[in-house]
Amino acid sequence: MSEPISAEKKVFIHTFGCQMNEYDSAKIRAKLGTDGFTATQDPGDADLILLNTCSIRDKAEQKMHSALGEYRRMKKNGQPVTIGIAGCVAQQEGDALLKRYSDLDLVFGPDGVPHVNQLVREAMDGKRVLDTEFLDLETYPFVTEVETVDDQQVGAFVTIQKGCDNKCTFCIVPTTRGAEASRSSSQIVDEVKALVDQGVVEITLIGQNVNSYGLKTPGEKTFAELLYAVSDVEGVERIRYTTSHPRDMGDDVVQAYRDLPKLSSYLHLPVQSGNNRILRRMKRYYKRERFLEICAALKDARPDLVMTTDFIVGFPGETEEQFEDTMTLLDEVGFIGSYSFKYSPRPGTPALRLKDPLVPNDVAGARLTRLQNRQRELSSAWTRGHEGKVVDVLVEGWSRHDPGVICGRTDTNLMVNFPGDLSLVRKTVPVRVTRGFTHTARGERV
Ligand code: SF4
Repeated sequence: MSEPISAEKKVFIHTFGCQMNEYDSAKIRAKLGTDGFTATQDPGDADLILLNTCSIRDKAEQKMHSALGEYRRMKKNGQPVTIGIAGCVAQQEGDALLKRYSDLDLVFGPDGVPHVNQLVREAMDGKRVLDTEFLDLETYPFVTEVETVDDQQVGAFVTIQKGCDNKCTFCIVPTTRGAEASRSSSQIVDEVKALVDQGVVEITLIGQNVNSYGLKTPGEKTFAELLYAVSDVEGVERIRYTTSHPRDMGDDVVQAYRDLPKLSSYLHLPVQSGNNRILRRMKRYYKRERFLEICAALKDARPDLVMTTDFIVGFPGETEEQFEDTMTLLDEVGFIGSYSFKYSPRPGTPALRLKDPLVPNDVAGARLTRLQNRQRELSSAWTRGHEGKVVDVLVEGWSRHDPGVICGRTDTNLMVNFPGDLSLVRKTVPVRVTRGFTHTARGERV
């Protein structure tokens, strides 16, 4: 085993993709911190550059390759830097990446994060390192190091599981992140406490399918029980979670919306399509009717609950009528926002084996535009509906665009910008909304 790196080194991590990757990057920083690394925002100043990659869509993968080109140029021009690729592309392509890029030092998948220090030491010792083995699920070593949060940080992610046991046919995640394992609830609560001790007030529990948390582990809490346990931690003011799978949304979670005021009145529940045949082809294991039933139960439990979702448009074989079912579902639920994409065939996904014909790109594009236009109308109507009302805003910091203006979110995740200063960060203040836009609102303190 090589020795810890003694002199201070700097690591730059370029993160692509989802919150799981953001979280993994934070854990990598925390773990490397124990070996004397500090994080830098400047790749030109780094001894180690890691690209934490995403393979869910072609675009993210292309962006990764272009960023890698830039970092390799820096190395070629004399910067003494070790370069590594982590995350889902690393898991999927493995050795092919090392073969393709002779100056690449390190490739590791998501299961390499718990022992990243060892991998980095070897790479900095001059070895070319590949680690794409999946770890044993029974003894999966969730990272316990907690990243030091900066003193203005309002919220933090806490992972509750890794991997996914579902087989949604469009998705590469089960291949790149492996099977599901749940982290122990006591470890999760400890991490929440450690974050709250640093001043964090909003906790987002993350996993690929949080609703199935604990189900495979005898004696472990269920996801609903975990929500109650996190809510019991003093100092936690708001709890969010992502991502949910409608199939596993139980009555006990619905009940939590009645019982736990700290549980945010905002839920992201991916539906993907409003048509039963398409849902079946996607292997989502719920029907449109069941999805609507869940939405109704949630809104009954928490009348001010708002929801967002994910849509895939132009899944192989999708007809105009089937797409109409997605359009009507959008209106029936009244989603206040959605992430919507044209289906993109991804290497290694089961959907590639479907016999249904691909939807022509222009047809899928036109459907996506229709869906997004309607979504924009629903989103703006919801946001404008706040005009004149007073809402409670948890302040996050300066607004990105306006000097002298701060921003924060309501319990329903509406971003509100209003004049103020940083002394209000981490506080909840009443704000009158003066103007609603598509996704954000402007207001003034009352
Ligand atoms: S639930 Fe489906 S979409 Fe989500 S990560 Fe698992 S396989 Fe992918």
